[in-house]
Amino acid sequence: MVKKSTKIYIVGAGISGLVAAKTLEAQGYCPVLLETTDAAGGRVKTDIANGVFFDHGFQVLLSAYPQAQKHLNYTNLKLNRFKPGALIFKEGKTQRIGDPLRDISALFPTIFSSIGSLSDKIKIFTLTQTLKNKSIDEIFASAEISTLNYLKNYGFSDRIIENFFRPFFTGIFLEEELRTPSRMFEFVFKMFGEGYATLPENGIGAISEQLANQLKNSEIKFGHRVSKISSNKIHLENGEVLQSDAILVTTPITIETGEHDLNNLGWKSCDNLYFTVEKKTFDEGIIGLVADKDAFTNNLYYPFDQTVSGDPILSVTIVKNHTLNEKDLVETVSSELLKHCKIATKSFLRKYTIKQALPDIDNLKKELSPNKIKVSENVYVAGDYVLNGSLNAAMASGESAAIKLMEEL
Ligand SMILES: Cc1cc2nc3c(=O)[nH]c(=O)nc-3n(C[C@H](O)[C@H](O)[C@H](O)COP(=O)(O)OP(=O)(O)OC[C@H]3O[C@@H](n4cnc5c(N)ncnc54)[C@H](O)[C@@H]3O)c2cc1C
Repeated sequence: MVKKSTKIYIVGAGISGLVAAKTLEAQGYCPVLLETTDAAGGRVKTDIANGVFFDHGFQVLLSAYPQAQKHLNYTNLKLNRFKPGALIFKEGKTQRIGDPLRDISALFPTIFSSIGSLSDKIKIFTLTQTLKNKSIDEIFASAEISTLNYLKNYGFSDRIIENFFRPFFTGIFLEEELRTPSRMFEFVFKMFGEGYATLPENGIGAISEQLANQLKNSEIKFGHRVSKISSNKIHLENGEVLQSDAILVTTPITIETGEHDLNNLGWKSCDNLYFTVEKKTFDEGIIGLVADKDAFTNNLYYPFDQTVSGDPILSVTIVKNHTLNEKDLVETVSSELLKHCKIATKSFLRKYTIKQALPDIDNLKKELSPNKIKVSENVYVAGDYVLNGSLNAAMASGESAAIKLMEEL
């Protein structure tokens, strides 16, 4: 088969679709990406307004992700690093927990904080070491229990779970009960231990931009919504039908009918509010957590080098399910920030509500077995939802689906 004229369509130009295209291009193929929106990157997006970068939801690139190391150029992304650990706000007190081995300034605050017992702090250290020696393959082959039970079984006290693990991992898993499978906890904890949480200088969307810019022989057709696929046909919502030799789908479809169905899957959501504040109350590069179960505010940070008319910007994430309208949410969060964190907001800038932020799935995987990647004749699947909700998984799934597709061609 002549590679250049082989008609390969990729449904979705999110991170998995972009990596799939990059992998296909590397072997001489010229895929076409069909993307329903007007931009590449899917859930990894940043708006720019008056020189300020607004990420669509707070997310971080963990520099230790093996797939990110393979597909991204960190130097060109100009990554800003967060300090390991967090600043915890609880009952009017502010305490710091950190990794003294990588940031010596965290040594005393960590030892003397009342966030957990000394035994808890030693256990954090031993868990970090244990997971350093456990491979990612082993992690995803381990039995799955809830993260909460995992932490309890490991012997962590309720105090450190409530003061640190629950707020920290609520922000990562986008759910408050810590019911997310322990495989994800181990994977994320390992990644935090082996690298840094980072953000590109131009916001998280710079990752999408970098991947899209690497494509030289692919075409992205924006505003093309796929409604149904069969073995060699793609039906677009506008009635057009495209003939194809192979289809790589990066968004949930019902295999039997070939119909696109995003709602078939459970999703976790969040709100992200941006404010200006009078002054920074803690350093950039530190993630603040509100460890009060009733608070709407989960985490907050000052985006690196971002100001509006000289006022610093604060990004706040809300994970709690709620029915508040924008005005009430902004008021509630502003008063929480004052009460728990002693932060006075000056003006509200914008809100992003991301209803389908992370897939709510279990039986999390590092990779799909090849016979699960090909779901029917000429149809291959990728996307974080087939593995686990992370940038690493999106990239891994896109790459392996492209490889499987090429093998079959
Ligand atoms: C708020 C938030 C916080 C997160 N935090 C982190 C984090 O800290 N670290 C981390 O590693 N990951 C995080 N993630 C997860 C990470 O962003 C995702 O795992 C990853 O972006 C998924 O990429 P994807 O290509 O699998 O899916 P998507 O990004 O969903 O891409 C699918 C693409 O398909 C398009 N599409 C959908 N339906 C159709 C159709 N019918 N026809 C054509 N095109 C279609 C969509 O528009 C989209 O562009 C977070 C995500 C969010 C939203």
